[in-house]
Order: sequence, then structure tokens, then C-alpha cells
Amino acid sequence: MSITPRVFNFAAGPAVLPLPALEEAQRDLVALPGIGMSILEISHRSKTFEAIIQECETNIRELAGIPENYRILFLQGGATLQFSMVPMNLLGPGESADYVVTGSWGKKALKEAKKVGPVAVAFTGEGENFTRVPRPEELKLNPNAVYVHLTSNETIHGVEFHELPDTGSVPLVVDTSSHMLSRPLDIRKYAMIYAGAQKNIGPAGCTLVILRDELLAKTQANPAYERLPIMLQYGTHAADRSLYNTPPVFAIYMMNLVSRWLLSIGGLAEMEKINTRKAGKLYAEIDRTGFYRGHAKKESRSRMNVTFRLPTEELEAKFAKEAKAAGLDGLKGHRSVGGLRASIYNAFPEAGVDALIAFMRDFEKNNG
Ligand SMILES: *Cc1c(COP(=O)(O)O)cnc(C)c1O
Repeated sequence: MSITPRVFNFAAGPAVLPLPALEEAQRDLVALPGIGMSILEISHRSKTFEAIIQECETNIRELAGIPENYRILFLQGGATLQFSMVPMNLLGPGESADYVVTGSWGKKALKEAKKVGPVAVAFTGEGENFTRVPRPEELKLNPNAVYVHLTSNETIHGVEFHELPDTGSVPLVVDTSSHMLSRPLDIRKYAMIYAGAQKNIGPAGCTLVILRDELLAKTQANPAYERLPIMLQYGTHAADRSLYNTPPVFAIYMMNLVSRWLLSIGGLAEMEKINTRKAGKLYAEIDRTGFYRGHAKKESRSRMNVTFRLPTEELEAKFAKEAKAAGLDGLKGHRSVGGLRASIYNAFPEAGVDALIAFMRDFEKNNG
């Protein structure tokens, strides 16, 4: 029973969570049914938590169709630590990796990888202010690279891959943080996926990593691997099923509740329909008169992070301020790009998109 009414939360992350998941956590916070202790108080080695982490893994496997030859890990350090762990584990002496850069997060991943070994930029959209993903013929891929890294949804610029590039036999490693589980995924195309939970699949504190056994075997064959701190070796977490040390118990509990919610609404195919509808009407409003301008090129528009501009920065500031007063929170764009950004993740209610569209019409009438 919340005392303060909920606003429409357009924040990019940590972000809105499904209400049923929050309500269940609230109801059971003091004592888990049949256990008599809070989820915040139980051992990560208890039968109760074992069942929670196992169910979360099973649900993710079912939702995304993840077969047994992929490990599912629940790690810490955010997606940012994966920027380092990926090259540390995968890049052996004399090897190099390719990076496809379509926004700020990919750029950060590239910067960290450069500290570890030779990496090449297969594409960067920076010269065009990160407005689109590359066309297949623009990618300069090295057939001998150990992996290709890309960011399938760039949260800050609102640029999303709607189809993955063909990297041939080179394993694809993808940062899916801000659109994980927003649509069905064909896992066979990925050697590895990582996603900070706090955008679309849970609260802050946990990073979901899904990696193919073959890739795991490759890390262990890397001569640099043995010298890595044990917490930075994927093998540690795979062998101990993410229980080598204390995992983020509460974050995993919440992710499990989110995974149950996704199953209850009909899984990722249904989720995709809802997300397509929500994003579709918001972009239609942006395109309606020219008063609003989308940042990303149409074919690269994100269904999760809708970035747009107004005629002047003054109007953008006014928009964000008045929207907030009207119960539409978190619309100010990231400080590095400016403008407005509506993050409309899985859990963001369609009624909030409708409310934003109504607000946009009024705002245009009064200021256009
Ligand atoms: C937020 C975000 C990150 C960074 O995540 P942390 O969990 O804060 O480390 C990395 N990549 C993408 C695409 C993101 O949206």
C-alpha cells in the first residue's frame, strides 16, 4: 500500500519495474512466505535462495530459448566491468578483436578493451553523432578477430540494431543492457550477451551474462587467463553457478519476479508486440508536424530509448520541467547529447506513453 502515488518514470536506468513484482517484494519483504525471514537476511547458500536463483535461470532460459550449451551467470560490477572482463578473458597474446561503435557505451567498451590488447574499430557512428547502426557493407571486419563486440541498443543515443550483422565464424559478443528481454532473440547468433539488470530486467546490482560453452573453453585456453584475479574469470562463476562469493541476493530475487511477470504476460513475443506498439505511437507523434525531431535515423530507432529534440534548448528545458510537474518524470536527455529521452522499457505502462503523447500535443499547441 504505497502512500505516494506513482508517477510515470521515463528514467534510463535504474528504471521502472513491473508493479506486480514490486508489490510482491513489498508484501514479502519482512518475511518470505513459509520462511519467516526477509530476502535481505537469508544466506545465499540456503535452499530458499538456491531455488530462487535456479528458477530465475530456468525462466530466462524459457523466455529467451537458451539451450544447455550456454551458461547463464549472475555477476556484479555492472555492464561496465564486462567492458574489461570480455577482453581480459577472450583476448590472448597475438590476437585482436573488432569493435562496432554506435554510441557512448560502445565507445567506453572500446576504451577498456584497448587497455588489454589490440582492438580495431570495425565501424564508428561518432562522425554522424551516433544516429544509426552501420549498413553491412560499412563494417570492416577482420576474419581473424577473436570476437566482434557491439552494443545492440545504445541507451543514450537511442540507436538500436534491429538485425545483427553477419560476422561469419567470428564470435559475436553483445552488450544488450538496455533492451534485454524486450523481444525474442535468436541466441545462436550470439557467443555471449551481457546486460546490466537495472535497465530492463531488474534493479541495480546484478549483471546477466549468457555465454556459449565454446567461448568459455576458449577463455580457459588463453595463456593470460590464469593470471586474472579469480573474480574476473568467467570460469569461476560458471563452475560455481554464480555462487563463488556472495551474489547480489536481492537483485536476483527481483529479477526472478520480473522473469515471472514476463512469462505471465505471454513471453517475449507478446512483450515485443507491446513494445512495438508503444514505440510506434510515440515516434508517430514525434514525426507528426516537425516541431519534434527524432535523434536516430528511422531504421535505427530504439524501441526502448526514444531520443528527440525540440526547436531550441530553452524549449527542451521548459518541456522537461513542465512534463515533470505533470507527472512525467525523467525525460531530460543524457547530459552528453541533450534533448529529451523517453525510456519506455518493458515495464513502462502504455498509459504513460499515451500521457506523454497528450502532453506533447498540448506543449506544441502552446509553444509551437
Ligand atoms: C547502462 C549501460 C551500461 C553501464 O551499466 P552499469 O551497470 O552502470 O555498469 C553499459 N551498457 C549499456 C548499453 C548501458 O545502457
